[in-house]
Amino acid sequence: MTILDGKKISNDIKDEIAEEVKKMKLNGEKAPHLAAVIVGNDGASLTYVGSKVRACERVGFESTLVQLPNTCSEVELMDTIDELNANDDIDGFIIQLPLPPQINTEKVLLAVDPKKDVDGFHPMNFGKMALDMSTFIPATPFGILELFDRYGVETKGKHTVVIGRSHIVGRPMSILMGRKGFPGNSTVTLTHSHTKNISEITRQADIIITALGVPKFLKADMVKEGVVVIDVGITRVPDSTKTKGYYITGDVDFETVSKKASYITPVPGGVGPMTIAMLLKNTLLARDMHS
Ligand code: NAP
Repeated sequence: MTILDGKKISNDIKDEIAEEVKKMKLNGEKAPHLAAVIVGNDGASLTYVGSKVRACERVGFESTLVQLPNTCSEVELMDTIDELNANDDIDGFIIQLPLPPQINTEKVLLAVDPKKDVDGFHPMNFGKMALDMSTFIPATPFGILELFDRYGVETKGKHTVVIGRSHIVGRPMSILMGRKGFPGNSTVTLTHSHTKNISEITRQADIIITALGVPKFLKADMVKEGVVVIDVGITRVPDSTKTKGYYITGDVDFETVSKKASYITPVPGGVGPMTIAMLLKNTLLARDMHS
């Protein structure tokens, strides 16, 4: 069994990006600039945004953090987006989700200039991705593709089962695994909360990608020997014995499933760090598109 070490690979990617940025600066070029907008004080969202800003510093990118209060109106957020769209110094930006209920997320994502949409959430970019056109691939699916690529995990002709159909992970992942090329060329089954007899489906899978947010959902009796398992889930489970008051767990019962798997991602240290590395890659791409 091989652990798909997202922590290591993401550090390799960051080193590669840092090297590119160094060269740009030596050539007198501007470093890529990523902005992040966060609305409210959600603990997990603040942690994610903080990691993204730190990652920018690590590779030599410029970064801007825009923090808006939880009470922020949709109009105020739209004004911020307009400013970021118009600011030529900023190559790409992200709006950290989820947004508070008074704000229409769909409307907000549509307002982002597709050329600066480094999360790849704008319908224009999602459509391009689905049509195999060059564009920003959402960072989490992009990170999973990169893990397959760097570890040489064969996807061609395999049966890939994706659990979860969110717009940011499950849905794009199902499209990408079925596209022509590598990684891809899989036969894909997309499952969700209405799927019947999910264990029967997962037991037929060569590759399983879990993105549902249910701790330890995937158990050893749901997988076949030699399966490749990608665990996207990140759930904070309250635990008073931990300093932070919680521990992090994935959607996979790692202890038992790893005994049958050929490749598996851990949580933490698997898909999570890859997501941030690929956001940086997308920002580099955005900068190349603008220059
Ligand atoms: P989401 O929007 O919460 O959607 C969850 C999906 O799982 C839905 O499609 C839902 O089905 C399905 N689902 C829920 N319970 C199920 C069950 N018992 N059986 C089968 N399907 C079930 O998902 P998300 O935003 O993609 O997040 C999923 C997990 O990944 C979360 O733990 C999140 O924190 C984590 N995540 C991690 C990263 C990373 O960088 N590693 C990035 C993003 C998300 P319905 O559509 O029928 O409701």
